[in-house]
Amino acid sequence: MKLQLIGHWSKPLAADKHNSLIIQAVKRFDGCCAYCAVKMPMTVTHPHGGLSVCLKDNEVPLELDNLLPLCAFCVNFNDINNLKGSGSFVELPWITQSDLTNILRVIYCVQTSSDPFVKSSYIYQGSSAILEELGRAPKQWDDFYFDGSVEKVIEAYDSAFGFFDKRSSSEVLYVDRLRFFFLPDKFKAAIDFWRPTIEAQIIKGFGQ
Ligand SMILES: [Zn+2]
Repeated sequence: MKLQLIGHWSKPLAADKHNSLIIQAVKRFDGCCAYCAVKMPMTVTHPHGGLSVCLKDNEVPLELDNLLPLCAFCVNFNDINNLKGSGSFVELPWITQSDLTNILRVIYCVQTSSDPFVKSSYIYQGSSAILEELGRAPKQWDDFYFDGSVEKVIEAYDSAFGFFDKRSSSEVLYVDRLRFFFLPDKFKAAIDFWRPTIEAQIIKGFGQ
């Protein structure tokens, strides 16, 4: 059995082969990622607003109704193997994956910003502390030799014992409490594309 993450969409459509369909799909979603709702401009260098377009699953025909635009982070949530080397799992049941993804995107954009307004913002000043706070692993994990790595989650799932949270009245598969904490390294190009929009949003916020 394959561990289901958020979706079971296909690999992204090839931009050279399906350009007009991809643009139609992006416009149909008003330029937003179908999962985290981030919206970036459609530019000459990024005519699809930085979004990849995928079939919602591999079984459906290639037509507009079946297409999903997804940002560089979210597009990975159709297969846990895509997450190897991109970060690790953390226990954050109180936040949705899409909210966490958007917070991380803002943090990585401000941390690499050279704009003086952005660098004097509270988000910039607090960004490292927020990262540390969000990424803190529970102490109890040590007792189970769990480190939040993608490999350990796959191992637990494959051996069918899973991670169960026995504290709740109804037994919850522990993986439901986990969120994926992206690290920026593999997403440098995407962060470079997102940064001017995030900077503009923060600067606009200052003016209000
Ligand atoms: Zn997204």
